[in-house]
Amino acid sequence: MTRQPTPESSRDNAIFSLDNKRVWVAGHRGMVGSALMRRLRRERCELLTVARGELDLRRQAEVEHWMRESQPQVVLIAAATVGGIHANRSRADEFIYDNLAIAMNVVHTAAEIGVEKLLFLGSSCIYPKLCTQPMTEDQLLSGPLEPTNQWYAIAKLAGLMLAKAYRVRHGMDFVAALPTNLYGPGDNFDLQQGHVIAALLRKLHEAKVRGDRSVEIWGTGLPRREFLHVDDLADALVYLLTHYSGEEPVNIGSGHEVSIAELASLAAEVVGYHGELVYNTSMPDGPPRKLLDVTRMTELGWRPRTPLFKGLQDAYACYLSQLPRPAPIDMVA
Ligand code: GDP
Repeated sequence: MTRQPTPESSRDNAIFSLDNKRVWVAGHRGMVGSALMRRLRRERCELLTVARGELDLRRQAEVEHWMRESQPQVVLIAAATVGGIHANRSRADEFIYDNLAIAMNVVHTAAEIGVEKLLFLGSSCIYPKLCTQPMTEDQLLSGPLEPTNQWYAIAKLAGLMLAKAYRVRHGMDFVAALPTNLYGPGDNFDLQQGHVIAALLRKLHEAKVRGDRSVEIWGTGLPRREFLHVDDLADALVYLLTHYSGEEPVNIGSGHEVSIAELASLAAEVVGYHGELVYNTSMPDGPPRKLLDVTRMTELGWRPRTPLFKGLQDAYACYLSQLPRPAPIDMVA
């Protein structure tokens, strides 16, 4: 084992340089991973990637082999099986197994090969269902989880604890971030699997094109959510990586929340849909609120840049850009 312990004392705000480092973004094709790649291209580091077809992060031997060969010095774990409220409920086994396996294999091997710095990603949905709002990092593991995403939450909590255990026992510089609900380029616009912003933009767009008189919104519209553009998240993660070495995870959010009904109205405005929004209360609401307390990140010196309305316009442009183009006239039978 080639672990290189760093003294724990007073390194919370130490500056870590990425210059000339070999940096691996695990999960570089996903929404968070590709935003990280865009952001890290502005740093003077060497970016390592490996395609999903070449390395299955759920296979321990494959992960150990690839990481030993590639010798990353910095690891960002953006790989995860994720999805919206319905996907979490209906694919519980995948959400717990995949995320446990990814955390276990990558974090353990990173410690084995003496990675200098590792960033593990949790999420605001791993907090207990009924936390005091806004949620401070010390409320993790303080109560029962939200049933719709408990499978994902258990796996991510285990990953956090694993990273912490290597840190406590071996002095590894492993840090963790807890991002709020994300949206933006690379989002999953599948209506069953995706999160609310991607799903609403698509539903509203399709309803506009078809001329539908109403659009279905899941739940009561009353839950409140905080949203962060994924490019802001990537910027925050690079900031955290280079400015933070503490043991406690750090919330990353916008600090603002909107109700799902307010979000749906904003999204309708962005799309230009003028029909009725109809609430299907047979679909789950999930937790009533999920607002992160972002004091720790603000005190470290980072703030988000993208207001929600502008971010929604950007996400809608991304949605439109990935729609298949209509066939040229002479190809239509
Ligand atoms: P959550 O933050 O983990 O609950 O994940 P989601 O982003 O999937 O859902 C957030 C909230 O938006 C929940 O209250 C959903 O019921 C609500 N919602 C309303 N319409 C939709 C939709 O079309 N898709 C999704 N995923 N959520 C929706």
